[in-house]
Order: sequence, then structure tokens, then C-alpha cells
Amino acid sequence: MSEEKSCDLECAICFSNYNNVFRAPKVLNCGHTFCLECLARMNMKSNVAEAILCPLCRDLTVVPKDGLPKLGNDPNILSCLPEAMQRIHSIHFSRDKGMLFKKGSRSQRMKEKKKVKTFFVSTVSQSLDVGHPAEPDSHRQQDQSCCWWSHNKWFIIVTIFVILMFVGLLISSIWFFMGR
Ligand SMILES: [Zn+2]
Ligand SMILES: [Zn+2]
Repeated sequence: MSEEKSCDLECAICFSNYNNVFRAPKVLNCGHTFCLECLARMNMKSNVAEAILCPLCRDLTVVPKDGLPKLGNDPNILSCLPEAMQRIHSIHFSRDKGMLFKKGSRSQRMKEKKKVKTFFVSTVSQSLDVGHPAEPDSHRQQDQSCCWWSHNKWFIIVTIFVILMFVGLLISSIWFFMGR
């Protein structure tokens, strides 16, 4: 791990610039840095809520007791951010809801409400889509097996009927020739 990190302000996952709100630069145990939003999304997809698997080196980082936003911020990247963004906002992550909340004073919260809401919508739709892929698949398979039978029901019945006719004809003709 080199100490001299250049000012790489892009998250390696989403290629978005870091900021001091939902895209705060969070350092994992391995030293790799990703934005909070991506880590939250990864945590939503993972079966293990208590740890984050680094997508670059697959090292495990235990999620702090107080939640994902309590992970340390990357001081190198922070120092590269504009001065107004040097202070990271207090963020709360709810895994149950799949949402990141921005904490703040009441007036600040009212002001930010609109912005935060649109963020929620995008987070919810993306994490929920990827979070439960097994359910619709099994439904589809069931549907297919039901439709396959109903579509081919008459074909199968007719085929069996024709085969039985042939067997009957064969047996009766053998009977006829034997009798002669
Ligand atoms: Zn990111
Ligand atoms: Zn790593």
C-alpha cells in the first residue's frame, strides 16, 4: 500500500465523484476505498449483513456496530474534495428498508427532503431488484410447466389414442392370420 495516493476522486464501482453525503469515500480494512452508496448496495445484495467483501481483493471488512456509515473516511480523498465538502455529513443506513438517511437538524432535513427522497427511490428499486431474484424465476418455471401441459394436452391424448389403435389393429390382424 503506497502512502502517496493521487487524488482519484472517482469511486471504482460507480465511477461517480465522491462527495460528503451519500458518496462519502469509505476505506475498507484492505485499504481500498469505495463510496458509501456502493457499499450500501453491495451490503443489500450480500447475504451477510455484518461484513463487506471488497470487490477488488475479496478481503472481508466487518461492518461497524453502529452501521456502515461509521466506516472510516479516506483522508486522502477528503483532502482533495472542495473545502465546503471536507466535513462528512452524518448518514444512517437502514438495511431493512434498503435506504440511506441523511441525519441533520430539522430545518436542514426539511430542506434536504426532496433530494433525499429521489435518492431513496433509486436505491430501493435497484437493491430490491437484485435482492430477490430467485422468487420470480421459480414462478416462471411453474407457469411454464403448467402451460406446456395445457398446450400439448390434446396432442398427447391423440398420440396415445393413435398408438392404441395401431396396437389393436396389429393384434386383431395377427389374430386373423393365426385363425386362418
Ligand atoms: Zn460508488
Ligand atoms: Zn480490497
